[in-house]
Amino acid sequence: MITERVSEAADSRIRERIKVHGDPKSSKFKVPEPIVEANDVNFYYGEKHALKDIYMDIPKNKATAFIGPSGCGKSTLLRCFNRLNDLVDSARVEGEILIDGEDIYAPSVDITQLRKKVGMVFQKSNPFPMSIYENVAYGPKIAGEKRKPVLDEIVERSLKGSALWDEVHTRLQENALGLSGGQMQRLCIARAIAVEPEILLMDEPCSALDPIATGKIEDLIAELKSEYTIVIVTHNMQQASRVSDYTAFMYLGELIEYDSTETIFLNPKYKQTEDYVSGKFG
Ligand code: ADP
Repeated sequence: MITERVSEAADSRIRERIKVHGDPKSSKFKVPEPIVEANDVNFYYGEKHALKDIYMDIPKNKATAFIGPSGCGKSTLLRCFNRLNDLVDSARVEGEILIDGEDIYAPSVDITQLRKKVGMVFQKSNPFPMSIYENVAYGPKIAGEKRKPVLDEIVERSLKGSALWDEVHTRLQENALGLSGGQMQRLCIARAIAVEPEILLMDEPCSALDPIATGKIEDLIAELKSEYTIVIVTHNMQQASRVSDYTAFMYLGELIEYDSTETIFLNPKYKQTEDYVSGKFG
């Protein structure tokens, strides 16, 4: 009860601050070539108001990081971009999210097509209990591809694209569950890119990995963004500053500040952003 009152007070403080610094719509940060456009997005888990008045565009073929303390809505916003929140009972989204100019919440949208276009890599790698080859070929097969030479080509291209080919090409028929944690995460990236998405959502993809495996994924993100738009949720400030071109700082369900990563880390507009990126809270 007391905790609730404290968080309500914090909530009204942040709303007051937003009032002082202008409304989210008119201060929407302009990015080059937006591929995702979110306008006035509000999201609820039952009574819980998890995203508040979000106006945000994501630039094409760049890496954009979402940062902020745990529970501030980063994953919820990420999951709105491929409608993964649809699976949560009592969840409700309001507002508009356009991808390539199309409203992804329109009744006519084919969710399978949307998720093909907007792939996802999760915090904990989740390979299927089958061979390395079958993990990567799975999506294209589901989409109807049956030709073995085509599948071979997709598997090779995807594993090269996720920087795993050199480590696994001699043992493609081995069970994927025998790979190391870092290799499994790169396999999940290969699986995601096998269906040729435009956007790759990554929800703390390195949080379960050691520094060497993390470094490999970070290098990979730098390469992948020439072909894909990357949106990454991370708790790790250094990671956000290393891998992203743009950074969004969220707090208590609001988008507080969104700008080039350099600006967010070196010259943020708001003290709250500065306090967070300098480790004063979080
Ligand atoms: P973050 O990614 O920043 O840690 P989340 O987006 O996971 O934050 O969560 C935002 C808020 O929504 C939190 O208060 C969290 O407890 C709540 N939340 C997240 N998922 C659910 C869910 N499935 N049901 C109810 N509440 C949820």
